[in-house]
Amino acid sequence: MEIINRRKRMSSVARRLRREENRTIGFVPTMGALHQGHLSLVHEARAMCDVVVVSVFVNPTQFGPAEDFSAYPRDLTRDSALMAEYNVDYVFAPTVEEVYPPGFSTYVTVEGISDQLEGASRPGHFRGVTTVVAILLNTIKPDFVFFGQKDAQQSVIIKRMVRDLNFPTEIVVLPIVREESGLAMSSRNNYLKNDERKAAAVLHRALSKARAAYDDGEHNAARLIELVRSTIEQEPLARIDYLSANDTDTFEKLDRIDERPALLSVAVFIGKTRLIDNVVLGKTKKQDAAGA
Ligand code: AMP
Repeated sequence: MEIINRRKRMSSVARRLRREENRTIGFVPTMGALHQGHLSLVHEARAMCDVVVVSVFVNPTQFGPAEDFSAYPRDLTRDSALMAEYNVDYVFAPTVEEVYPPGFSTYVTVEGISDQLEGASRPGHFRGVTTVVAILLNTIKPDFVFFGQKDAQQSVIIKRMVRDLNFPTEIVVLPIVREESGLAMSSRNNYLKNDERKAAAVLHRALSKARAAYDDGEHNAARLIELVRSTIEQEPLARIDYLSANDTDTFEKLDRIDERPALLSVAVFIGKTRLIDNVVLGKTKKQDAAGA
């Protein structure tokens, strides 16, 4: 496994793999502090592609000024050991200056869908995400790029960017990996104290209640949201940021969940830590098969 810090080196290695060796490249972008959620993406990339590249980059442009950019957990030594275990071929771990050289002034924005849900709570967040993903995709030019359903809106926005700008890469979205309590794995779970970690299981518990109610025939979005709200409100350490039922592609708000699948998503503060989770209701057969 080689760790690469320079984007020029990353580009030339990827070019050689593609052109001279004709090997397929699978790419997993991460911000590090790896857990089983990330590793499920690496595992799938390993199964589907000849070469696996994982980036570890805490991207400053996707954090708001009052957010946790400097506190975000960083441990490249631990991450590298995990990636070696998972037979990753290349780790791309550039510095901020390497990704954003002096004078950097080009940003990619997917309009409309970037302003809702996470985008409404975190202005500018998705502009940072799409910009860095565009840079990484241009540097590596992977055949496949892997994302988690945990960040459902991010996956949809990146799919739109890749389609609109005709990036020659295919996107693979994989199911949310959870702890035994149901808590979705996240690098931010590192911030949680013991009692908070227990409390954080309420997100999944609440969404699961909504899923059960939906399966029992409750297709009214407001009533499903109310069920999620009242469950989360029973947890004293939890403070809701948003709860929403949206079309999974357009993010149009839904009153009823019938023909088209809906993303029921939540963002909740547990103490000072902001966590997100979601469930897809009215799934397509493909999503069912993936277990999402
Ligand atoms: P991050 O390091 O948080 O930027 O996440 C990198 C990638 O891992 C993103 O595509 C996330 O959606 C994905 N990911 C994070 N947590 C999970 C999880 N619990 N299950 C599946 N994928 C995840």
